[in-house]
Amino acid sequence: TGAGMSAESGVPTYRGRGGIWHEYKWENYACQTAFIRNPAHVIDFHELRRIEALKCEPHVGHKIITALQTKYSNTSIVTQNIDGMHQRAGSQEVIELHGSLWRMRCDKEGKLFENLSQGKYANRKCSCGEFLRPDIIWFEDQLNESTVVNATHVISQCDLFISIGTSGVVWPAAGFQQLAKKGGAHCIEINPEKTELSYLFDDVHREPAGQVLSRLFDSLL
Ligand code: NAD
Repeated sequence: TGAGMSAESGVPTYRGRGGIWHEYKWENYACQTAFIRNPAHVIDFHELRRIEALKCEPHVGHKIITALQTKYSNTSIVTQNIDGMHQRAGSQEVIELHGSLWRMRCDKEGKLFENLSQGKYANRKCSCGEFLRPDIIWFEDQLNESTVVNATHVISQCDLFISIGTSGVVWPAAGFQQLAKKGGAHCIEINPEKTELSYLFDDVHREPAGQVLSRLFDSLL
C-alpha cells in the first residue's frame, strides 16, 4: 500500500496537491541533518503528523485487509506508509518499508520505543539523555536492510500481489510488481489514476481502494 490508501482516510499526502512538502521544506524537518541541527523542531513536526493522523480513522479497505489476514494467515502487508493505519485497523506484522511515526529510537543505545495511541510524545529523550529520533526513513537515509529482505521474501513467494494507492515511482516498492510477476503471481493494481506501472498489471481497478476491496473480497470474508 501507498499514500493513496491513507489519503482515503483523510491523511494528508506529502507530494501531491496540498501535500505537506508544499508547506514545509523537508530539508528542515525530515532528514538527519535537520535533526542534528534542531532535534526539538523536527520532533515537533512529527508530533503534529501524529496528532493529524489520529484525527483520521481506518476505512473499509483497511478493515477488509485485516479480515483477509485474519482468515488467511499467509496474507502479508507491505506498506510505504508511516502512519500506522493498518495496525489501527487491527492488522498484525505490517512490513513498514519507511518506518513508523509511532516508533522512536535512541541511536546511541539502539533502543526502540513504540506507542500507537498517543499523539503527543511521552518522552522526547532517552534515559541516557539523547534525543529520541522518529524511526522513519527520512530523505537521504538508507532503508533498513532486514525490512527490505522481509518484503522481498514475501513478494517473491506470493501468488496474488495487489498494489493499492501507490504511484509506483518510489523505490524499492516501484520494483515489487515485477518481483511478484517473476515469481508467478497474478498482479492487481487499485488506483483511481493510471500510473507508470499500470501496463504491467494483469488487472487494473480505477476506483478508490475501499470500494474495490469491498467488491473483490466481501464474498470471501
Ligand atoms: P504517491 O503520493 O506517489 O501516490 C499515491 C497514489 O495513490 C496516486 O497514484 C493516487 O492516484 C492514488 N490514490 C489516491 N487516492 C486513492 C484511493 N482512494 N485509492 C487508491 N489509490 C488512491 O504515494 P506513494 O506511491 O505511497 O509514494 C509516496 C511516498 O511518500 C512514500 O515513500 C510514502 O512513504 C510517503 N508517504 C506516506 C504517507 C503516509 O504515511 N500516509 C503519506 C504520504 C506519503
